Amino acid sequence: MAEPLVKGWCPGALRPMESGDGLIVRVRPRGGRLSQQEAAGIADLAAAHGNGLIDLTSRANLQVRGVTEATYRPLLAGLESLGLTDATSEAEARRNIVVTPFWSGEDGTLRIAAALADALSRPDAPEIPGKFGFAVDCGSSPVLSNVPADIRIERSADGWLICRADGATGGLRVTEATAADAAMALARWFIAFGGKEVGDEGGRGRMVAHLGHGARLPVGNSEVVAQPGAASFPVPGAVPAGFLAGFQFGQIRAEALAALAGLGALRVTPWRMLLIEDCCSAPDVPGLITTSGDPMLRVVACTGKPGCLQALQPTRELARALAPHVPDGALLHVSGCAKGCAHPAAAAMTLTAVVEGFDFIRHGRPNGPPSRPGLTASSLRAHPAILTEAL
Ligand code: SF4
Repeated sequence: MAEPLVKGWCPGALRPMESGDGLIVRVRPRGGRLSQQEAAGIADLAAAHGNGLIDLTSRANLQVRGVTEATYRPLLAGLESLGLTDATSEAEARRNIVVTPFWSGEDGTLRIAAALADALSRPDAPEIPGKFGFAVDCGSSPVLSNVPADIRIERSADGWLICRADGATGGLRVTEATAADAAMALARWFIAFGGKEVGDEGGRGRMVAHLGHGARLPVGNSEVVAQPGAASFPVPGAVPAGFLAGFQFGQIRAEALAALAGLGALRVTPWRMLLIEDCCSAPDVPGLITTSGDPMLRVVACTGKPGCLQALQPTRELARALAPHVPDGALLHVSGCAKGCAHPAAAAMTLTAVVEGFDFIRHGRPNGPPSRPGLTASSLRAHPAILTEAL
């Protein structure tokens, strides 16, 4: 199997990434939230300067696709006028913060996220690695435990705010006023004690690898026991803050984003869904997934060919065709290469594209050993039962 290219950095607004369908320009909403004006503005910009497709990412960002060398500058100017850019590409890359979409006005989440963003924008901010990130998860119980992050601000079992290194069973007790400083101190410790150099190619510079290689946290940083996180991902439907809507493959069209912006402010989630604030019922907007039983929730697929330069096969049409055949509670991941961007973790069923077709991996990761190599898209469409045999 060909080794996928690991770039080690994520695109931004100030540092777009080339893809098979043009430049990808990533927008990082502050506090994980877009006002109605910001959401409508992104929709307009994506239609005018991209190909009208917007990805929702697993780090709760948006990606405008299909941008060209000629349209990049006006797109960036539009994002700047909406206040959605940073002073430098370095500051933008550091502002890698995922925020629980289930915050309430009293729990401090937005104030902590803003303080953290401010600390990361300063010239003396720690020079963290490209994929290093923060989770602000201060609702009554953590919901971002399955979302990659290196430093987490969350609540302990007895309700205290804590700052926890990912991979540690406990954290340091903090307050709303001290949480961001504690996170910065932990990031500086990580760098000072060699965390950037530890780990294999896919996980280098991550907190879990650093602790796994025997790094000892500063005194007090693991004393308050953390709460177990949510065992499952949220599903589309009404929630206390509004309505949670999903999208096929986490991709939304500019016109759908404009329609949702007309309904309320949007909270961007790491589950590739949008929470429409104060919306009580399923919006009547084409392309939304609004019920938990929708078969499209049982498949994930990356951009695939031709949208990704590394992809070895198209992915999404095959995933769409196979979705009705995936049993309830199972997940089928169709990956354009072994990198597995759309779902790097193990899935019940994974089809990893190879030069001649697809390898089938049962209960494994996209780069795992295939249980059935050498399948083709047409054989899978003709005999979808291949997926469930001996599951
Ligand atoms: S997993 Fe998909 S999106 Fe990621 S590099 Fe491979 S083909 Fe591209």
